[in-house]
Amino acid sequence: MTTSVSGQPRIRRIDAHVHMVGNGLAGSGGWLRLTGWHRWLAGFMLRQLGVPASALAGDLEAIYAEHLKKLVRESSMDAVVLLAHERVHDPDGTPREDLGSMFVPNDVVLDLAKNFPEFVPGVSIHPARRDALAELERCLEAGAVLMKCLPNCQNIDFSERRFRQFWERMAEARLPLLAHTGGEHTVPVINAALADPRLLRFPLECGVTVIAAHCGTSSGGFDHDYFREWTGMLREFPNLYGDISAMVSLNRCGHLRDCLRDEIAPRILHGSDFPVPVLGHRIWLQGWIDRATFRRCQSIRNPLERDWQFKVALGFSDEIATRAVNLLRRLDRRQSRSGAF
Ligand SMILES: [Zn+2]
Repeated sequence: MTTSVSGQPRIRRIDAHVHMVGNGLAGSGGWLRLTGWHRWLAGFMLRQLGVPASALAGDLEAIYAEHLKKLVRESSMDAVVLLAHERVHDPDGTPREDLGSMFVPNDVVLDLAKNFPEFVPGVSIHPARRDALAELERCLEAGAVLMKCLPNCQNIDFSERRFRQFWERMAEARLPLLAHTGGEHTVPVINAALADPRLLRFPLECGVTVIAAHCGTSSGGFDHDYFREWTGMLREFPNLYGDISAMVSLNRCGHLRDCLRDEIAPRILHGSDFPVPVLGHRIWLQGWIDRATFRRCQSIRNPLERDWQFKVALGFSDEIATRAVNLLRRLDRRQSRSGAF
């Protein structure tokens, strides 16, 4: 990372989709509740990263953040957007502590980003929360660079007209919405129909810059593939983008090469979806890269770098990682002499 005229580290390349994970043991208020398949998957993901599965019973926030910070420093990225994770809410705004598998409060990522230049804060706010607008203001004040939701897992219908004021305030503050689109199986799904990117038309019409995580692709199970619906919307909405996170994988890679097409590539952002495992086997087996390239990339121990190198090998340009610097709120100002952060 180089230094800007203001003396702050200059961010050039950014991974726009990295999850914070924690269990609240040190008092953050967050929680992690894993049962069955999700417990096995979490242990598997942690071991892949070189974190012992026993960390699940310790101060996971601290162990995870320390490990992640090291991975960012040793990668081609200058920083990552570190994402909070909102709770499931009923339509009337009541939080459902009995549903979902984790809660990472906004203060966890806001505090980490204050202390470490490798992290910039992506907050998470259910727009039906009774204090949604107040929480949005608080997060804007604290330096949030984007707002992330998983509508199918957190029970959010983006198209509800009562959220207009919330979207309009995000648009005014130039805070982008990173919205999960397409299927999901690392977090429990509450309502699969809410993964449809067409529900994003309303926030887009309100002027919000929207990044459709995974470009609407199927998670590889029986869920619908919305890639064509998403590409159709690109023509209509210049403020719509997509991230190619979790797409170097066995289950979600089907449309990865399509994202290199001339009409799509300028709207693509790099994201890893860390800690989701990075597996390039199908990319090689489909003949998109040769065996030597597959072996070189797959043997990279750092998952952030492995994901990036697979994308470089497929032909993605540096711009997928630099584009976010101008899209994320205040990131450009943070780096200029006059901009107060
Ligand atoms: Zn994700």
